[in-house]
Amino acid sequence: MTLRVGIVGAGISGLSTQHFLEREAVRRGLRVQVETWDPRPSPGGNVRTESRGGWRCEEAAESILNSRTETRELAMELGLSNRIVQASPLAKKRFLVWRGKLRAMGPGSIFGSFPTWSAKLAALKEPFVARGPEDESFADFGRRRLGKGLFEQIMDPMVTGIYAANPELLSVRSAFPRIKGMEQEHGSLVRGLWNARKARSRLPQERKAGSGSYSFRGGMTDLVEALAASLGGSVFTDQPLVRLERLEHGWRLHGRDRMADFDRVVLALPSHQLGDLDGLPGHCRKDLCAVPYNPVAVVGLGYRREHVGHPLDGFGFLVPRLEGRKILGTLFTSSLWTDAAPEGHVLLRTMVGGGRSPELASLSENDLVAMVQGELAELVGARGEPVFAHVKRYAQGIPQYPVGHHLVVDRLRQELTPLGLFLAGNAWDGIGVNDCVAAAATRARTILEGA
Ligand SMILES: Cc1cc2nc3c(=O)[nH]c(=O)nc-3n(C[C@H](O)[C@H](O)[C@H](O)COP(=O)(O)OP(=O)(O)OC[C@H]3O[C@@H](n4cnc5c(N)ncnc54)[C@H](O)[C@@H]3O)c2cc1C
Repeated sequence: MTLRVGIVGAGISGLSTQHFLEREAVRRGLRVQVETWDPRPSPGGNVRTESRGGWRCEEAAESILNSRTETRELAMELGLSNRIVQASPLAKKRFLVWRGKLRAMGPGSIFGSFPTWSAKLAALKEPFVARGPEDESFADFGRRRLGKGLFEQIMDPMVTGIYAANPELLSVRSAFPRIKGMEQEHGSLVRGLWNARKARSRLPQERKAGSGSYSFRGGMTDLVEALAASLGGSVFTDQPLVRLERLEHGWRLHGRDRMADFDRVVLALPSHQLGDLDGLPGHCRKDLCAVPYNPVAVVGLGYRREHVGHPLDGFGFLVPRLEGRKILGTLFTSSLWTDAAPEGHVLLRTMVGGGRSPELASLSENDLVAMVQGELAELVGARGEPVFAHVKRYAQGIPQYPVGHHLVVDRLRQELTPLGLFLAGNAWDGIGVNDCVAAAATRARTILEGA
């Protein structure tokens, strides 16, 4: 018997689910027939690289962390090993804006004037702070464990840099499971980090998680293009799912001009787009569509090198809310990948909006460019007009897991899995590309169990 699986959404989550399903089925001697549908003209979802005139600018993910290996292994299976490019070692240096100036972060900075001495002293109490509730907002967690000062000066910009989220609303457990896990397991972040370090030192070299991040020679688009190419004609673009119909055994999917029956269906589209579908189980609909997404704009600006005063010798900078600026942070893209800008030029990629100032993400492209230009002039001494600009606006860009999200996800999976429906995508299992790929591998095994 052949198991028919329909995947709705050809972002990295949907495409990698199909890849792992097909690979795992071969390994288990099972027969599967998989199709992936997406309304866009090309697969890849938000992962897209804009390449023109010697500039290479990402619209969403800039790079993949080396700290996990799932995506790298997938890339190897796809024959991309010689296209993997490590970010420059410069990327280890990160900056924060403090009192209007860029400050380098790092072990040495702990002895300087930033963070403030009162914040550092308050944080010394961390090992003695009692364990907190099962889940709480990232802001409550940060203030409780490390004090208001360190939260505002370091943790708030950190969460903004990853989730573009409002830390008062973001679940620490779902967004930062490792950090919350340290508290639960070791009673303290300091003890958790110390124990993790000791455990790591005992591992053989080849099993140690790497630091830094990587991308591909043609940018992140190389990964989704290679994935889609390896799946051949079973990825249907320009094909939105409009309706699901429950059958006695399985589901009938109705697309714009395609209809097909499947034993199992993977919903790999954003949670906010699930609301547009007819035929979802009524009792789950509210929870399925309830994950809020923050609007975000990505503004890539290119300058002649000599028109930017700062050495750009790092990954980029983040902006704490206290600074009252209009941007969330900027990546020094051409310092990470020297070929991302033409010779003698630099590329800076700035995030705007998020949970902190959502209204700014919907400014016109011209206004966004002008605003970012003004901020970069003050912060890194960028002078004159940029010679390259690329703007990508997301009305609903990055999911912001609410406190208690894990309970909703567990409940939904308990309800949907027996019906042959599987949840995928960054609304449920983490937002990083590594999270999406790791969840896809697990999902493929779950789908094949009992097949
Ligand atoms: C600005 C930004 C920066 C980021 N930076 C990083 C980073 O540096 N590193 C990192 O690891 N991650 C980063 N991320 C996160 C990461 O890129 C995403 O979480 C990941 O790409 C999400 O993939 P996905 O497949 O879950 O969802 P998506 O990419 O959103 O794909 C969902 C797909 O579903 C499709 N769809 C919608 N409606 C339907 C329908 N009715 N029928 C069929 N299909 C439908 C959509 O067209 C889309 O293709 C960033 C994200 C953003 C927005």
